[in-house]
Amino acid sequence: MAARNGSQIPTLGKMLEKRLKLVLDGVRDELEKSENQQYVELVGRIPTDAGDESVGHCLADLNLAIIDRHIQEVRDIDAAKSRIKDGSFGICMDCKDDISFARLTAYPTAKRCLVCQQQREKTYASGNTPRL
Ligand SMILES: [Zn+2]
Repeated sequence: MAARNGSQIPTLGKMLEKRLKLVLDGVRDELEKSENQQYVELVGRIPTDAGDESVGHCLADLNLAIIDRHIQEVRDIDAAKSRIKDGSFGICMDCKDDISFARLTAYPTAKRCLVCQQQREKTYASGNTPRL
């Protein structure tokens, strides 16, 4: 279990919420540019602060190529939020060590500590792994 400083998780949780809103704003911009009013309204109805994990799902349901690149990030944020809920947030999924607060501040959706991430990038040097 992580012996993380208690104030860090709420701080990072807020960062994730902010990030999610930013990404959704970006999605809205894209959709407005596409002049597809029905999609703009759809995205406008997605609850960003309902605390569930439906945002990525809702976006995926729109199934629009122009927002594809945002969807992965929304999913990463959703996943990070559920890790906060189940208590595994900020713990490296490979070595189970705490991910440093500095790293989480830079990448709140990080699933691995820096060492494991670098190791992984070395292993998958072909470069087709998504990264933040
Ligand atoms: Zn690690």
